[in-house]
Amino acid sequence: MQLDDEKQRVLAGTKGFMPDDEGEALFVAAQQVCRSEVDGPIVEIGSYCGRSTIWLGAAAQSEGRVVVTVDHHRGSEETQAGWEHHDPEVVDPRISKMDTLPFLRRTLFDAGLEDTVIAVVGKSPAVASVWGQEIAMLFIDGGHAAEHAAADYRSWAPHLAKGGVLAIHDVFAHPADGGQAPHDEIYQPALRSGDFAEFSATGSLRLLRRL
Ligand code: SAH
Ligand code: MG
Repeated sequence: MQLDDEKQRVLAGTKGFMPDDEGEALFVAAQQVCRSEVDGPIVEIGSYCGRSTIWLGAAAQSEGRVVVTVDHHRGSEETQAGWEHHDPEVVDPRISKMDTLPFLRRTLFDAGLEDTVIAVVGKSPAVASVWGQEIAMLFIDGGHAAEHAAADYRSWAPHLAKGGVLAIHDVFAHPADGGQAPHDEIYQPALRSGDFAEFSATGSLRLLRRL
């Protein structure tokens, strides 16, 4: 395990959807790219309560880089009330809508990551449209509706530096194992483009390098 005791403790109490083995693979890739000559921040699409952000943030922090984590914090289609992954604790009762931003802030404070992680609140393509810097590592774990996954790939992948890492979560080859959008709208198009080579797979996490 690569996280210190404090971050490990915070991780154990953080809601989210990233298993430990995938988080560790994410950490190792982030640390490698931060130690390489590839410049730029790490960008995460889909912060939720900051579970995966702890691993990315830990790697960035020790190498003096930053993580920008992007989320509108209103939840994906598959986490709304009535759906399998819904958590009523993350609903703002005043407006009966999800609001995971307070949970993310708590995670970042508790994990000692407030100086390393910049939280951006907004829709992913809107944030991408004002983005103006090369990215060392792009982790896409946002909405899993086909249109959102496709938009995340289309709007963010062009910002990835040569030699940078594209990490994609929830990639399932078989529909019986999970939703197909990350596989069909991000993973396959990236491989087909000829711009990426896969170098690692852990669970549903795929790691590709920008050629
Ligand atoms: N990476 C997190 C899980 C992310 S869940 C973890 O490991 O715990 C997916 C998140 O994507 C949700 O919080 C949802 O609000 C966000 N999301 C979905 N579609 C989005 C969009 N178009 N723009 C910004 N955020 C989006
Ligand atoms: Mg995910």
